[in-house]
Amino acid sequence: MGNWEDYVRKVEPYVPGEQPDAARMIKLNTNENPYPPAPGVLRVLREYDGNRLRLYPAPDCKPLVEAIAEYYGLKPEQVFTGVGSDDVLAMIFLTFFNAKQPVFFPDITYSFYDVWAGMLRIPYETKALDEDFRIRPEDYYGENGGVIFPNPNAPTGILMELSAIRDILDHNRDVIVVVDEAYIDFGGESALPLIDEYDNLLVVQTFSKSRSMAGMRIGYAMGNERLIRYLNDVKYSFNSYTMTQLSLALGVEAVRDRAYFEETRQKIIATREWTKGELRGLGFTFGDSMSNFIFARHESVPAEEIFAALREQNIYVRHFNSERIRNYLRISIGTPEEMEALIRFLRGWLA
Ligand code: PMP
Repeated sequence: MGNWEDYVRKVEPYVPGEQPDAARMIKLNTNENPYPPAPGVLRVLREYDGNRLRLYPAPDCKPLVEAIAEYYGLKPEQVFTGVGSDDVLAMIFLTFFNAKQPVFFPDITYSFYDVWAGMLRIPYETKALDEDFRIRPEDYYGENGGVIFPNPNAPTGILMELSAIRDILDHNRDVIVVVDEAYIDFGGESALPLIDEYDNLLVVQTFSKSRSMAGMRIGYAMGNERLIRYLNDVKYSFNSYTMTQLSLALGVEAVRDRAYFEETRQKIIATREWTKGELRGLGFTFGDSMSNFIFARHESVPAEEIFAALREQNIYVRHFNSERIRNYLRISIGTPEEMEALIRFLRGWLA
C-alpha cells in the first residue's frame, strides 16, 4: 500500500439540506421559493435555441453583470457573478482571507463558512451570538483577517440594523468585510449603499431565494471596482467559464421583471407573518425573522420529535444537530396552502 493518502486534501464537507423526491411533499427545508421564476424566465427557457450550447458562454458573464448593475444603479465593474452565492463566497474566501489573523464570523451562522475556512486552511474564530441570537458588533472590533456574516443571519433569521453594520465596518478598515445578503429581500435593509463609502465592503446576494432560481445557481457580489477585479483574477485562474449560457440568459430575464419580484416577495412576507402568529398560538417561540424562514422551538416538545413527526407526513423542515440550536427547527416559508397544511397537522399532533 502506497502512502498517497498522506497527500490528500482532507476536508469536513458541508452537508446540504435533503432534496427528497416524494410525489406529494411539502418541502420547507432549504429555503427555496415556492413560486415559479418570473414569466420571462420561463418564456426564454421555452424558446431557447439549444444550438447555442455548442459555444462557450461569455467568460466575463457580461449580459448578466450588466443587467444586475443596471438594476442596482452600479457600474458593471462593481459586479461579480458566480454559480450560486456559494461559488461567489468560496471565491471571496480564496481571494481575500489570506492573513495570519483569524477571520471572524458568528458561532451560529451559515454552516458553510467554517467548511471553506477548513478546506482553504484559513484560521477563523467564531463570536457567540447573544442569548437572543443577536450579533454583537463589539465582538468584531479585535484584530482579524476578515469578517463575514449573513444579514439577516442564517439560520436565525435575525436582522442587523445598518447602523450596527456601519459600526463593524468602522472598526475594520484594513480587512475585507463581507455581508452575505442571501435573505435581504424579505424585509431587511441592504448594506449596498455603503459600498461607495467603504472600499473594503462586499455585499453578496443570490437568485436562489427571492428570485425563485435555486436550481439555476446564480449568485453575485457587489463592491468597489478593485475588489471585483481581484475576484475576477482568481476566478479566471480557477475556471474561466463559471456560468452556463442558460444561466446568463435566464438570469437577465429574472432581473428585468421588477413587478413579479415585488409581488412574490410581498406574498412570502405576508405568509411569513401569518405563520408567525399561528406558530406562536401553538406554543412555539422564535425571534422576529426577516427572512423566508422561521427558526423556532417549542415550549415543551423537543425539536427532534416534531421533526420526525413532520417527516412522517412528508413535511420536510430543517434540524441542525449542533450546540445551542439543537432544540430549534428552521421552517421555510412556502405557499399559504403549504403553511396551512403544516399548521393544521401541528395543531392536531400537539393537542
Ligand atoms: N448564504 C446563506 C446565508 C445561505 O443560507 C445560502 C443558502 N444555502 C447561501 C448563501 C447559498 O445560496 P446559493 O448558493 O444558492 O446562492
